[in-house]
Amino acid sequence: MQITKNSIETTAGPIEWFTGAVYLDAVAAPSGPSRLQAISVHFTPGARTAWHNHPNGQTIYVTEGTGLCQRRGGPIEVINPGDRVFFEPGEDHWHGAAPDRFMTHLAMLDVDDEGNAATWGEHVTDEDYNAAPAS
Ligand code: MN
Repeated sequence: MQITKNSIETTAGPIEWFTGAVYLDAVAAPSGPSRLQAISVHFTPGARTAWHNHPNGQTIYVTEGTGLCQRRGGPIEVINPGDRVFFEPGEDHWHGAAPDRFMTHLAMLDVDDEGNAATWGEHVTDEDYNAAPAS
């Protein structure tokens, strides 16, 4: 058993990968044979990821607030605490907060052989984001 006290600093999400203010708390990092990466991601209202995909897919589990997510070509979906979403390997998608709500999710994935967690693309435009259904 290994207890890690809450001593790791919260970091801001890089502007290349996110729109708006997003804060990341590391939960688990790949180590030895484990490829698990888990991050608690805190989105402020209106904040969201850029379009991206994960080599081995990703599960997100909403713990707080109201969020939105979309796969390329699909509708924007509203997600709430207790909801979990699995994005298929290589499936282009984004996730974030609703326009007027915070949203926190636990993000879990397995990195690939080279340690890559994601491939990043363009930001989600305001026009596309604002096409979201009312939450
Ligand atoms: Mn993702």
